[in-house]
Amino acid sequence: MKVSIIGSGYVGLVTGACLAERGHDISCIDIDRVKVDSINRGEPPIHEEGLEELMRSTIGSRLRATTDLAGAVGGSDLTFITVGTPLSDGEIDLRFIEEAARQVGRAIAKKSGYHVVAVKSTVVPGTTDGIVGPMVSRESGKQPGEGFGLCMNPEFLTEGQAVRDFRNPDRIVVGGIDERSRDALSSLYEDFEGVDLLRVNNKTAEMIKYASNSMLALQISFANELAELATRLGGIDIVDVMRGVHLSHYLSPFLPDGKRMRAPIAAFLEAGCGFGGSCLPKDVAALIAHGRKAGCDMRMLKATLAINEEQPLKVVAILEKHVPELRDLPVAVLGLAFKPDTDDMRESPAIPIIRALVERGAQVRAYDPVANQAARRILGESGIRYCDRLEDALREARAVILVTRWAEFQRVPEALRELNPTALFIDGRRMLDKSRFKNYSGIGL
Ligand code: NAD
Repeated sequence: MKVSIIGSGYVGLVTGACLAERGHDISCIDIDRVKVDSINRGEPPIHEEGLEELMRSTIGSRLRATTDLAGAVGGSDLTFITVGTPLSDGEIDLRFIEEAARQVGRAIAKKSGYHVVAVKSTVVPGTTDGIVGPMVSRESGKQPGEGFGLCMNPEFLTEGQAVRDFRNPDRIVVGGIDERSRDALSSLYEDFEGVDLLRVNNKTAEMIKYASNSMLALQISFANELAELATRLGGIDIVDVMRGVHLSHYLSPFLPDGKRMRAPIAAFLEAGCGFGGSCLPKDVAALIAHGRKAGCDMRMLKATLAINEEQPLKVVAILEKHVPELRDLPVAVLGLAFKPDTDDMRESPAIPIIRALVERGAQVRAYDPVANQAARRILGESGIRYCDRLEDALREARAVILVTRWAEFQRVPEALRELNPTALFIDGRRMLDKSRFKNYSGIGL
């Protein structure tokens, strides 16, 4: 199928490269010329495992990038909208969606034949039918369901493993205004054999995405609330508590051979310095605001966000309990990206943590295997030295705070023992075995 994709960020580019791999003809569109040029050179503008190889094998043949939206949309059968849906004043900001819909409408006005418009961005329930459809209709003079199909196809990929997730999806949700729209979108996925494909209306598809993300956020804040209680009660380690919880057969079911497996959801039921990223915080906040407008006070989700907002600074409070005066104290911060295997800094807990340390006069040594550059753009240089190697961050630090669960940090206990054995280690993710440190503290201890 000939597919155009508006917005070549994490979702748009990964979708484009993976669909090109499956033999579809893909035009990735972006307003950012630098991104477009980089894609056309086969160089991914983002860090995603496997993406570069994938792009190099398809770029110039089945995959291309362009700033010419009208040409690319006009030459395709289906257009995905994958632009950003940020938060603005606590509500979803649909300005990029509206602009994309306006331009799609203009592009298909002169096109003969049926065209499918599919929203892949995360949008609050009602957006596809209530905003995108009418906008495309107004600009094209065509009716949804007649002149064009209208779909909502939420994306569930996880940054850092986006290519793998796209190739092996756990589900495909096909929302549509009618059967014809859903049939057209479903045909794009027909070679994903054995994957559950759910056909629903657009509003339900939109809601499935929010429900899925909110459920994950809820687990994290639940674990963090219990971690706070464990700290206050004393004599309880939240890691042991959660290990006990995870052994429930709901979370660690017995397999036919008698062995047990740990359900992946258990990974969200662990204490830490909070969730970040481009999705969970903004999506939960957008759903709360949307619920408020509908007269629904989303009490559980409000608590989820409130707990999460307090979480990053807990590691700074732990540090201050041990060292009340942080002025001129060399502090290593390990991990800057919001999660491992990505350079995405959006809403990363490392941002409030480093800002609080700098405000208190600490000398921050920041290290991330891939996100140093991205962090520099957000946090600047003042009071922060970005280190190219883990050892450089650890060497002179009096305290070390682990913020992101990068696999590389498994070697921290050994490196610290060799370079700087007396440094205080604060585990913001409760990732490492406390018995391997001389001086250990962390969330939920
Ligand atoms: P992103 O910011 O990385 O990419 C969006 C791109 O759209 C940018 O490159 C921007 O220049 C481009 N753009 C904006 N307006 C445009 C226009 N009119 N024409 C052409 N290009 C335009 O965003 P993302 O992380 O890919 O997220 C996109 C959407 O997908 C969001 O709604 C997000 O919530 C959702 N989502 C993201 C993820 C994720 O892990 N990043 C996962 C699932 C869903």
